[in-house]
Amino acid sequence: MATFDWMIRSFARQASDGTTGTGSAATRVRRAVMTCAALLAACGLVACERSPERTGGGGKPVVVCTTGMVADLARAIGGDRIELRTLMGPGVDPHLYKASPGDVRALESAALVLYSGLHLEGRMIEPIEAMARTKPVVAVAEAVPVERRRKFEGEYASDPHVWMDASLWSLAGGRVRDELIKLDPAGRERITAASATLTAELAELHQWAIKRLGQIPADRRVLVTAHDAFGYFGRAYGVEVLAVQGVSTDSEAGLRDINALIDTLVKRKIGAVFVETSVPPKTIQALVEGCAARGHPIKIGGELYSDALGGPGSGADTYAGMFRHNVETIATALGAGPDAAPLGAPGRDQGTTK
Ligand SMILES: [Zn+2]
Repeated sequence: MATFDWMIRSFARQASDGTTGTGSAATRVRRAVMTCAALLAACGLVACERSPERTGGGGKPVVVCTTGMVADLARAIGGDRIELRTLMGPGVDPHLYKASPGDVRALESAALVLYSGLHLEGRMIEPIEAMARTKPVVAVAEAVPVERRRKFEGEYASDPHVWMDASLWSLAGGRVRDELIKLDPAGRERITAASATLTAELAELHQWAIKRLGQIPADRRVLVTAHDAFGYFGRAYGVEVLAVQGVSTDSEAGLRDINALIDTLVKRKIGAVFVETSVPPKTIQALVEGCAARGHPIKIGGELYSDALGGPGSGADTYAGMFRHNVETIATALGAGPDAAPLGAPGRDQGTTK
């Protein structure tokens, strides 16, 4: 029934803001009501109103997550006590992603919906919020207190990319723990223990990143990417961040923005730029070509996982793996030299990957 609620709300909103056509407000509302009635008749009320399963095949509560990063928190903390479903796979851009009919069915079947929030999932927020009438729906990044967020004017009041700072992502983990305990009070002890393990691992990851990125020579500590996903990263780990696009990929990069950044790269003799796996590389290629034309060759420092995890076998298919990959790629490309105290000793990921 949640889908139907969403349709009603959607039509009511269209009627009130006039997007369904012309005529008086009363006519528009009448038209919207008639459209809803027609839709009801067409799909058959009984067929639409499928009672949600809420538990998977093994009788475990179904937890549906939007991004791989959010799912990794749920997997690390919920372990085998939950049945996990992730909507966005490797390389998917969450700013642009729209819910498919399969996603809506998955959301309906969930006992708990976890999404990142702070407007990250800008194009699928309606079906997510429609679920809040019938089940817990939680934006985990909103566990980060307002005073610790990067804030802007306008639509993006807060930078949504909080997973880029492992200490902030740990706060999101705390929210996931609390929600999983509410869902499964009998599992409190195991959930709390798994959460404590994850917190310790994220703290270790955070300290390692500070140290590792601190090895980049001060005059080379500049990270250039296609969209502004690394603001928290730069703030936490002492790296200046320059990007062509803002915190969303929801608009085309303008020629003027590209040229302005080329000017900066040439003037400051910046030697490397980075591609993101969830953003088409054409903007970064334009920077490389533009700099070359100005007699300043720059290299592509590597591929970073900004808004999505990597695929199976990439080494970046967990949050910890993704984070380590990004830190190490940036440190190496910007001249940090070999890592004297590397992370990744056997067994250290066990809490986050099982
Ligand atoms: Zn982004």
